[in-house]
Amino acid sequence: MAFKIIASQCTQCGACEFECPRGAVNFKGEKYVIDPTKCNECKGGFDTQQCASVCPVSKTCVPA
Ligand code: SF4
Ligand code: SF4
Repeated sequence: MAFKIIASQCTQCGACEFECPRGAVNFKGEKYVIDPTKCNECKGGFDTQQCASVCPVSKTCVPA
């Protein structure tokens, strides 16, 4: 399982890219996207998903 970014709500602040412990967030084309092959939902390292924790817009980093 992986998380995804709702592009229409994303302000492109970049916080999630910086916080992701697996480098799964990248700016591609014109938007931030989460690579589902890298995202492990922060399992094992954190109690909460770091992208969702730092995102200033609620419900923008969500389960895919
Ligand atoms: S859930 Fe964790 S591993 Fe997945 S994109 Fe967000 S911060 Fe990265
Ligand atoms: S933290 Fe939220 S608003 Fe900022 S780039 Fe990531 S998804 Fe977009």
